[in-house]
Amino acid sequence: MIAARILVSEVGPRDGLQSISSIMPTAAKLAWITAEAAAGVREIEVGSFVPATLLPQLADTDQVVRAARLIPGLTVAVLVPNLQGAQAAIAAGAHKITLPLSVSETHSLRNLRRTHAQVIAEARAIAQLIRSLPAGQRPHFEGSLSTVFGCTLEGPIAEDQIARLADALMAAGCDEVGLADTSGYADPAAVRRLIRLVRGVVGEGALTGIHLHNTRGLGLANALAAIEAGITTLDSSMGGLGGCPFAPGASGNLVTEDLCFMLAAMGVETGIDLPELLEVRKLIAAGLPGEALYGFTALAGLPLGFQSTGRADGAGRSGGNGQADGTKRADGTKRADSTGPSDGIGQLDGTGRADGPGKAA
Ligand code: ZN
Repeated sequence: MIAARILVSEVGPRDGLQSISSIMPTAAKLAWITAEAAAGVREIEVGSFVPATLLPQLADTDQVVRAARLIPGLTVAVLVPNLQGAQAAIAAGAHKITLPLSVSETHSLRNLRRTHAQVIAEARAIAQLIRSLPAGQRPHFEGSLSTVFGCTLEGPIAEDQIARLADALMAAGCDEVGLADTSGYADPAAVRRLIRLVRGVVGEGALTGIHLHNTRGLGLANALAAIEAGITTLDSSMGGLGGCPFAPGASGNLVTEDLCFMLAAMGVETGIDLPELLEVRKLIAAGLPGEALYGFTALAGLPLGFQSTGRADGAGRSGGNGQADGTKRADGTKRADSTGPSDGIGQLDGTGRADGPGKAA
């Protein structure tokens, strides 16, 4: 069963920007983050606390975190590779810290230069540091199981190894674990299988999020499989920036705009105003001259009469509790006219609602 409300967690300022050679100026990053938060995105991974020599694109993460945390209602997330990164993240005031653990040890050694045991030790040290903070100042701590759907160096990873590492991250003190399709190998059946596997180890409440790529065009299919399996947080990147775009023309990351379109079309509440979100692309394009932005929704535009589920505080929406089951939404009180959903909150009538997603294809 799909949750009535899904949290779309934007990772573009981290995953997107780390994968391209252009360096976005700090002011442009903050303009992007501010505008996306204003469009209703409530969690944004704004950077990574890694040495600037490794990722000069993210050298200003400290500054970005400090500014972003002033945005009301926004959860400011960061990636950290180790305890030192976590210390910097906490000093800057990040609300959420994610430590990646590559379930492929070859990948872990190659990318982080650390064995599994060493990464688990870092997780334990970070959890201890967080526990030493006063209650109310403790960031949420997630251990992300990366390359979990397969590794470009090792291929498929044994499920008992994945289960053991998920358990080890929780035992080390993580608040939850996440699944990350680092290599873009996932398919909907594997998504369902691994969610079941890992939830069987850590419990339902300790696996709520998934990080999917669109490397082979299965990003949205995988996202649908994930939410049908009970996942409530989906990572994605504006313009599909980042990820592993091996194939020309393919975005690397799941495209935030397309994901939000799918969810809105299905009547799943995200709190995001889609027309306003699409406007944010202009800021990103301005901050990254020459970089390609992907995504079908931005190219095709919203369907005639499309109803964005919009923000939870929006007037005239579907009953206030975010449960948009189609019946409630089919009230047609604010149907868009022939000029299209210029006000961004136009609603579909019952007929259009029923086959909305199909028509968009
Ligand atoms: Zn990614």
